[in-house]
Amino acid sequence: MDIKKLSQYLEDNKLPKFRLKQILKAVYQDSVSSFLEISTLAKDLREKIDKEFNILSFKPNEIQSDKKDGSQKVLLELKDGHAIETVLMPGSIDKHWTACISSQVGCPMGCSFCATGKIGFKRNLNYEEIIDQVLFWKQYLKKNKAEDTLSNIVFMGMGEPFMNWDEVSLAIKKLLDESLFNFSARHISVSTSGVADKIKKFAREFPQLNLAVSLVFPNDEERSKNMPVNKKYDLRELAQAINYYLQTTNRKIFFEYILFDGLNDREEDVTQIARFIANIEKKHLIHINLIRYNSTDTSFRPSSRERAEDFHKNLAKLKIASTIRKSVGGDINAACGQLAAKK
Ligand code: SAH
Ligand code: SF4
Repeated sequence: MDIKKLSQYLEDNKLPKFRLKQILKAVYQDSVSSFLEISTLAKDLREKIDKEFNILSFKPNEIQSDKKDGSQKVLLELKDGHAIETVLMPGSIDKHWTACISSQVGCPMGCSFCATGKIGFKRNLNYEEIIDQVLFWKQYLKKNKAEDTLSNIVFMGMGEPFMNWDEVSLAIKKLLDESLFNFSARHISVSTSGVADKIKKFAREFPQLNLAVSLVFPNDEERSKNMPVNKKYDLRELAQAINYYLQTTNRKIFFEYILFDGLNDREEDVTQIARFIANIEKKHLIHINLIRYNSTDTSFRPSSRERAEDFHKNLAKLKIASTIRKSVGGDINAACGQLAAKK
C-alpha cells in the first residue's frame, strides 16, 4: 500500500489524522484483505478509498501447495509485467509460519547453481513490493488458518538483498515499525552471498537482526568459479567483514553451505572450512547450515544423505557446529535456489 499517497489523499479530503492510523492498523496488524472490511471507517469512506487504492502492489496468481510438507508458493505479477515468487513455510513451532521473501526480480550475482541467478537481473523491488509479500501471507493466514501466525521473515527468496540496500533497509524498518507490522528484530533474517561492505553496514544499522552468509565453497578458487561475488570480495575480505559483524553485534552468524556431490562434500573440504574459520575471532558464534543441493536446471548433483551425515560429523570433530537442514517446497519448485518465477 502506498502510505504516502494515502496520507496525502486523507489530507486533501480534510479527514482527521487518526483515520490514517485506523487504516494502517487494519491493514498491517489486523491483515484485512480489503478496505471495505475496515469497520472503524464510515461506509462511504471505505468505498471511496477502495476505489482509489489497492492494498497490495501486485496481482497474486493461484497459490501452489506442497502436499508433503505444507509449504506454499505464489507467483506475484508486478505492475510493470515482471514477476516474483514468495514462499510460506511451516515454522519450528506448531501454528507458526515463516515467509521467505524476494528482494529483486531475478538476481545480478550469477551463482552457477541457482535458478534465480540463471534468469539474470531484471530490476530491484521497491520497499512496498517487498513488504507486501509479508502482507500477502498475513492475509492468507487470516483467511485460511485463523489461529496461525506469521512469526518469522527470511530474506532468502529471489535476489541479493545487499545489492538493493536502500529499499531492503526501508522494508526492514517498516517490518519493525510498531505502528505497522511490529515484528521483533530477532525474527527477521537476511541472507547474503557475501557482499562484504554491506555486511558491515548491516552490523551497524541492524545489529539485532539475524544474518546468514552463503559460504557454499570453502576455497577462493571454487568459490570464484561458481559465485562471481567472490572475485570482488574474496574469502579474506569476507572473514574481515564477519569479524566486524561479530564484534559489533555479538550475535550468532549462520553460514549456508550447499552440499554438492563430490565437489565440496569431501573430507578436505571440511579441512578448508576449518582453515577459513581460523580467520574468524569469535568462532563460538558460528553455525553452519548444511543444505543438500536442490536440483535445478544445472549439472550439479546433491550429496547423498550419508555423505551429508559424515560431513556434519567431521565438522563436529573440529568443534564446528552445524545442522543438516531439511528442504521444504521441493515438489513445487519452492526450495532454496529454485525460485525462477516462470509464468
Ligand atoms: N542472494 C542471497 C539470498 C538468497 S538465499 C544469498 O544467496 O544468500 C538463497 C539461498 O539458497 C542461498 O544460501 C543459496 O546459496 C542457496 N541456494 C541457491 N541455489 C540452491 C539450490 N539449488 N539448492 C540449495 N540451496 C541453494
Ligand atoms: Fe543470487 Fe543468492 Fe541465487 Fe546467488 S544464490 S544467484 S546471490 S539469489
